[in-house]
Amino acid sequence: MPSAPASSLPSPCDVLVIGGGPAGSTAAALLAARGRHVVMLEKARHPRFHIGESLLPQNLRIFEKLGVAEAVRAIGVFKPGASFVSDEHGKKVSFSFADGLNKAYTHSYQVRRAEFDALLFRNAATRGAETHEDMLVTEVALGGAQGSRVTARDAAGHEHVWQARFVIDASGRDTLLAKQQGGKQRDAHTNTAAIYGHFRGVAPCEDCPEGNITIHLLDDGWCWMIPLPEGVTSVGVVGTPEFFKRRKGSFEDFLRESLAASPSTRARMQGAELASPVTTTGNYSYRAQRMRGEGWLMVGDAFAFLDPVFSSGVMLAMASAELGAEAVEAWLDDPARAEPLLRAFERKVHRAIGSMAWLIYRINRPVLRDMFMQPSNRFRMRDGLVSLLAGDVHANTNRQLPVLVFKTTYGMLSLAHRMGFRLRGGKLRRAPPPLPAMAAE
Ligand SMILES: Cc1cc2nc3c(=O)[nH]c(=O)nc-3n(C[C@H](O)[C@H](O)[C@H](O)COP(=O)(O)OP(=O)(O)OC[C@H]3O[C@@H](n4cnc5c(N)ncnc54)[C@H](O)[C@@H]3O)c2cc1C
Repeated sequence: MPSAPASSLPSPCDVLVIGGGPAGSTAAALLAARGRHVVMLEKARHPRFHIGESLLPQNLRIFEKLGVAEAVRAIGVFKPGASFVSDEHGKKVSFSFADGLNKAYTHSYQVRRAEFDALLFRNAATRGAETHEDMLVTEVALGGAQGSRVTARDAAGHEHVWQARFVIDASGRDTLLAKQQGGKQRDAHTNTAAIYGHFRGVAPCEDCPEGNITIHLLDDGWCWMIPLPEGVTSVGVVGTPEFFKRRKGSFEDFLRESLAASPSTRARMQGAELASPVTTTGNYSYRAQRMRGEGWLMVGDAFAFLDPVFSSGVMLAMASAELGAEAVEAWLDDPARAEPLLRAFERKVHRAIGSMAWLIYRINRPVLRDMFMQPSNRFRMRDGLVSLLAGDVHANTNRQLPVLVFKTTYGMLSLAHRMGFRLRGGKLRRAPPPLPAMAAE
């Protein structure tokens, strides 16, 4: 659709937020509640489909701060923990968030993102943000301390222009500013893609606590099964490019074939019927070169995306938006005095991503899989791992210690693995015979 010319002078605002997903809506709500003039532009119209349905306990603190804890509870499926299923190891292991070292938040929820994102977006408006849907940001002319000019196009093709003192890029995987700056880098450690859909009639994971996300560790990657409201289960397979090259038929056929290839997923999918289109997301891990500059910063997926095996994306997005909003608030009052807060924002976001990335980069390696499937709680290693799985990425030193022991143990077991040993029954054993395939559930 051709763009109509800008009809009037740019509209001034304190903060312009690009994108109304969890990160954008969090930043917009927090800044608007502090009396700032915030404009949030969303290219779609809520409710709209989005993947990323399993949340972490550390999300709950932010829900409380946003005043949406009860509303999220009302649309969510209670999630007490995560279960891992491995055909190779012939077992299932469940981790309960209640065992984590941080006892403040010991559960989470699984949500339809259409409802969840709409709820957060409306909440930002309720708190005073000026929100626009069907409004695609097409150009950002960053102007540093002089403010930035943001151009957007509405559904009728009309152009709108804002002059913002500060710009927050929360455009998710569209990575608007990173693309504009040519600073988007593919993650060298992971090169996976995902294929997924919603199903009805997926059999529950036997012996797993009700409401847990199940992660099935497959030969070529992993699979998620997330219980959603009204008997729907979100099912997805994540694999390498080689895995995706095997596709011959339709995406639906490929998803079904992939799930049939592993005994534990095959058993659960036998009576399952597809309840949505099958979707793919390719080549998806990346990081932008810069997270902030004079008068702008990036939050959530607009800065970085990690493989979602531990359901960390929404928590990382909302937590970075919370930190970013705090720094922007200070910047609006005095850019010079905001510098320490902006540096802390950057450092904490890098640290949070780094904590999750350590686990994510290793989940397809035999040693980490052995440690997940035979968890030891010596030196509270398992409880430390549970804390990480709960998204407790800003833990104090006491809570970090067990995680450090876990990582050191991983290092030692990796060495043993290179010498031909594997962890079996809690002991190192040389060249173990292949394990029997897991009995069908
Ligand atoms: C296959 C897969 C599975 C996942 N599973 C999980 C999971 O189980 N749990 C979890 O926590 N996370 C998961 N994630 C990650 C999660 O989806 C993201 O991390 C999260 O949505 C990031 O939030 P955000 O607000 O940064 O971005 P988004 O949620 O993507 O929101 C960005 C918004 O910006 C809008 N936008 C984009 N460009 C423009 C523009 N130019 N103008 C205006 N608006 C624009 C978009 O329409 C969108 O609404 C998964 C991701 C994938 C790919």
